[in-house]
Amino acid sequence: MMVTCATCGKEYNRAPAYIQKNGRNFCSRHCAETYTGKPFSGQYGGKPTKKKVVQSVAGSLEVGKQYSLRDIITKCQQSPGRYKFTASEMAQLLYHFCDDMVSIGHNVWMRQEVPA
Ligand SMILES: [Zn+2]
Repeated sequence: MMVTCATCGKEYNRAPAYIQKNGRNFCSRHCAETYTGKPFSGQYGGKPTKKKVVQSVAGSLEVGKQYSLRDIITKCQQSPGRYKFTASEMAQLLYHFCDDMVSIGHNVWMRQEVPA
């Protein structure tokens, strides 16, 4: 079923079950965020989880560039949720939830291309 994005006006196909009948539909998370001016936080709203924060920050890092754990923590602490992270906690989160992040030395991490 075709619906129209409330932000960019693009028509896109969506399963009828996911269409907001009296609400607004968005073609992408980006458009939802643009419209509301708030980070998209899922169907039920609320704060993003620590895991989500780390995943979104890791996903924005440059592939092949080295980042100190400290840099990554700073970026995460400035992200929505405003969580505090310890170094060991951050290393655990990166290790378990970010498949494209590899530790390449003491507290140094790099984002690598994920094999398809
Ligand atoms: Zn859109």
